[in-house]
Amino acid sequence: MLTAAVRNGWTRCRLLLQPVATGIRQLSEKRCATTAAQQNWQARVDLAAAYRALDQLGYNEGICNHLSLMTPSADGSGAELMLLVPYGLHWSRVRASDLVGLDAAGRVVEGNGRAETSAATIHRPLHEARPEAKAVFHLHSPYATALSCLQDSRLRMVHQNCLYFLSSIAYDLDYSGVSVQDSEGARLASCLAPDKTCLMMANHGYLVLAGTAAMAFHYSYYLERCAMYQLLAMQTGRELKELDPAFAKAAQQDMLKFAERDGEQFFRAVQQKLRDEGSDFDK
Ligand SMILES: [Zn+2]
Repeated sequence: MLTAAVRNGWTRCRLLLQPVATGIRQLSEKRCATTAAQQNWQARVDLAAAYRALDQLGYNEGICNHLSLMTPSADGSGAELMLLVPYGLHWSRVRASDLVGLDAAGRVVEGNGRAETSAATIHRPLHEARPEAKAVFHLHSPYATALSCLQDSRLRMVHQNCLYFLSSIAYDLDYSGVSVQDSEGARLASCLAPDKTCLMMANHGYLVLAGTAAMAFHYSYYLERCAMYQLLAMQTGRELKELDPAFAKAAQQDMLKFAERDGEQFFRAVQQKLRDEGSDFDK
């Protein structure tokens, strides 16, 4: 049984602590908003860097292929937005502040401009189907796209970099026209088994899903490079020298062991290169 003194003590404590609790809650809310704003800005900087760097590499085509990245809303509301280049802005001009944020309904709720139709129809359903994939990069780069135009568009294990994709690549063999329906993103997602993170899209290009912009950049870069090596080797007309499957499986483990570290470092180096060149991607 509680004594009157203890009861009075608790009451006094509760009264004394009430403003403290309110202060902590306000501080916590403020901190959440600040953290969300910081995460949002970092996501913007990373995505803008990816647009700029992939443009420099010649991996984009026109203005209708896209890179998207999920991020907390900057206002700290807890909503998760999909960042995207606004329709009509060239990849070579993208700045962090230019990106638009789309809510779950596909409405632009951050930034100015609108999303291109196929960007919304391809990317949004993919993010929904694969919530672990914070980044979805869709590219029409020359060699990988050329590979997607072949009857047999398999990425052959002919170079060590191909090992990145030994177990992660899938193929969509049914080109279904320009993407204007939400169902296209869902269809593409259905082509990707849970362990697959890259999709060769017949007669079109490719998709890379990753947890961060850095890793989506890393794998986008190397998939194009692998396609380049394969097609250049095929152009000689001589027989391809594929890696022994058992050896490839073992060697893949070594590649993947350092993939995250190398991917992050590569992306930071790319951003430094952009800064050294005077790029305003981070503005
Ligand atoms: Zn496309």
